[in-house]
Amino acid sequence: MYPVLNKLPNKSDSKPLPIVVIGNGPSGICLSYLLSGYIPYIKRGSAHPHPILQKKLEETPEVPIIDQDLEYLSEGLEGRSQSPVALLFDTLLRPDTDFGGTAESVLTWWHETNRAIPHLILGRNPPGGAWHLIEGSMITLSQGEWMGLPDLQFKDWMRKKRRGLRNNRATAEDIAQYYQHYVAKKGLQQNFICGTVVTSVRKVSPDVNFSYAQQDPERNSHSFWDFPEKDDQIASGNLFQVDGFIKNTNGCQQPFSIYAENVVLATGTYDSPSKLGVNGEDLPFVHHKLSALEEAVKNKRVGMTSDPVLIVGAGLTAADAILFAHHCNIPVIHAFRRRVNDPGLIFNQLPKMMYPEYHKIHQMMKEQSVACPGPYECYVSLPEHHVLSFTEDKKCIFQDKSGHQKVFNISMAFVLIGSNPNLSFLPNNGIDLAIDNEQPVNSKRNPINVDPFTYECVQEKGLYAVGPLAGDNFVRFVQGGALAVASSLLKKANKNPP
Ligand SMILES: Cc1cc2nc3c(=O)[nH]c(=O)nc-3n(C[C@H](O)[C@H](O)[C@H](O)COP(=O)(O)OP(=O)(O)OC[C@H]3O[C@@H](n4cnc5c(N)ncnc54)[C@H](O)[C@@H]3O)c2cc1C
Repeated sequence: MYPVLNKLPNKSDSKPLPIVVIGNGPSGICLSYLLSGYIPYIKRGSAHPHPILQKKLEETPEVPIIDQDLEYLSEGLEGRSQSPVALLFDTLLRPDTDFGGTAESVLTWWHETNRAIPHLILGRNPPGGAWHLIEGSMITLSQGEWMGLPDLQFKDWMRKKRRGLRNNRATAEDIAQYYQHYVAKKGLQQNFICGTVVTSVRKVSPDVNFSYAQQDPERNSHSFWDFPEKDDQIASGNLFQVDGFIKNTNGCQQPFSIYAENVVLATGTYDSPSKLGVNGEDLPFVHHKLSALEEAVKNKRVGMTSDPVLIVGAGLTAADAILFAHHCNIPVIHAFRRRVNDPGLIFNQLPKMMYPEYHKIHQMMKEQSVACPGPYECYVSLPEHHVLSFTEDKKCIFQDKSGHQKVFNISMAFVLIGSNPNLSFLPNNGIDLAIDNEQPVNSKRNPINVDPFTYECVQEKGLYAVGPLAGDNFVRFVQGGALAVASSLLKKANKNPP
């Protein structure tokens, strides 16, 4: 199982770790795989369908991708990500997927243990990150295949588990289980310490005096505690102090403090739900997570005969909440600020054939507004309305686009309007690291400013950011960030062959 606190080095009695990764979702897992010495080469005899890329790959077929010039290889690639390295890694793993093809990856993986770099992956949940918090029955937006990590195809795992995809898509529960399985199958467990929460990361002077003599008695010659000798260490001159606590099995919190030469932020964006900022939002019947609706149904706090539940938002989580409530015959009032035909609305961007359930919700939003009752039972939409306040007697006051106010009785409210990263463990909430360093970090509007080919923070050497924090919002694309980080750290560690 996963190492526990007594295996965490304490800052006073151990030398710094080369790398600490905060966050154990798909970004952290993929990075751990690469840092564990799994090295990607181009498969002999493979031919990538992109002719220019194929030509470049033929130039140095014996050099692992991770050691090649990622900027050169990714130049000119186009696709659904802004990140050149994300496009590169994705197209090497899934060469023709955007054209509906199922061509195999052109990569082959070698486990070169001499190139592994000691690292720790800290995370609040079991390996899989946000996927353990997302409602298990929810079906992914992406095709199941796009949720897979290197060298273990998701469809093969599903076949072994005798599970099937729905419309090529998977459930969140399957995805969470696959990530846990991946960590075990690839032998990465020793790098993961789950149940840990990082509360502070601060830069410290590299002159801190370490005792190299004291060794953890539990170390054995094959464990990651066998750090290289001091001279071999990553000579970056950076040092970070990472503080936090770990939750014991008995629920107690035990603090820890470690030093690291490099820190990778892989904490995702699912931790702090966005708020409306209106009066009454803190009342106990107002919630900000979909899981609260499931819990309320389970505990019979809402049902078919209750006052309607209010769902605020016009994204896919709000749609999932409506689907869930509809399934349980719970009446719903659905309020959102945009027009139903606003091209920016996610429903107007999804192909109808692939996402019939979301198409259905969109139809209800259009056809069953409070202004013109339609054929659907237990649902009413309030387009172009915003919430003014909630009152203690479970009323919600809305205002429409003409300034008219309406009041509805509700049983519970679910404000599902997105979430923000929680970087409270960084100085100034990480704002200084963002592209616009006067605004909070936001995965879509204001990600952390990273070098596109190393993912090292422009403002802070030795600090890296991957995943949605760096603007990569889909699992298939977070993996390119991990490749860039691993490539950069291997270079720093001087573990690249000449
Ligand atoms: C409802 C929903 C549906 C989605 N559907 C899809 C989809 O269909 N396809 C797709 O590709 N992507 C989808 N995504 C996006 C996907 O979840 C992310 O792209 C992906 O999980 C990002 O991976 P990550 O490893 O960077 O971060 P995460 O998966 O968010 O993992 C980060 C982990 O770090 C932990 N953490 C945060 N702060 C700390 C701290 N201080 N100390 C310790 N641990 C910490 C978090 O608790 C979390 O467990 C969806 C997201 C949501 C919310």
